[in-house]
Amino acid sequence: MNQTTAAVRAVGLAKHYGLDDSRVAALAGVDVEFQRREFTAIMGPSGSGKSTLMHCVAGLDQADAGRVWIGDTELTGLRDDALTDLRRDQVGFVFQAFNLLPTLTALENITLPFDLAGRRPDRAALEEVVAAVNLEDRLHHRPGQLSGGQQQRVACARALVTRPEVVFADEPTGALDSSASAELLRFLRNSVDDLGRTVVMVTHDPSAAAYADRVLFLKDGRLVDEISAPTADGVLERMKSFEKAAAPC
Ligand code: ADP
Ligand code: MG
Repeated sequence: MNQTTAAVRAVGLAKHYGLDDSRVAALAGVDVEFQRREFTAIMGPSGSGKSTLMHCVAGLDQADAGRVWIGDTELTGLRDDALTDLRRDQVGFVFQAFNLLPTLTALENITLPFDLAGRRPDRAALEEVVAAVNLEDRLHHRPGQLSGGQQQRVACARALVTRPEVVFADEPTGALDSSASAELLRFLRNSVDDLGRTVVMVTHDPSAAAYADRVLFLKDGRLVDEISAPTADGVLERMKSFEKAAAPC
């Protein structure tokens, strides 16, 4: 695997829902690359295709057209069992609603990807990620005994513990208060800077997007703009300019 390989690359992604009059293009031809050790935020109005894009590039859903690579492996056309293995080992996913298993402890939730693979946890990776999420004294608690912010940090640790090629997070701060959000965003930032991970996050919050290296804007299933080294004010201005462009004269 060479250094120039992107963590994730997609070409010509298209996906439609519904038939005839109710047909909707959730993705209308998206080309995108996410470089290794980069933190990317994806923004856009509700229904613009953000979740569909993440699900298609993560191998959780299939596009109607286009090709996707995770590292050197092309997802499109992989057999089901190979796709399942790739998803388990090379892709982490964090959902707005945490999606932890309530009967397992925090530690058991974090090591779940290894259990599913029938492997012993990688101790070094586990220690690294537990220290990074600052949950050493909560590992034997169940999700119901943890705050929302702590639960989402467990979910992030679970997504990172296999040292995947990429971690996708779909509105990971959507259910958190502002201080828990800031803590989670600092953690995602550090996982890129200190642990060398690659993170792609959907958010509608300009101040969350400002933690990223790059912000991509989606509209009607197309990538319409991009900002590097974003600030919250810069992102907000760009969002306002889209709204103005869409408003009737
Ligand atoms: P976002 O995450 O930006 O809010 P989505 O990717 O969820 O947008 O949705 C993009 C478009 O595709 C929307 O018009 C949505 O209604 C439609 N869509 C998404 N999932 C489905 C589905 N399972 N069935 C029908 N339409 C869907
Ligand atoms: Mg969505």
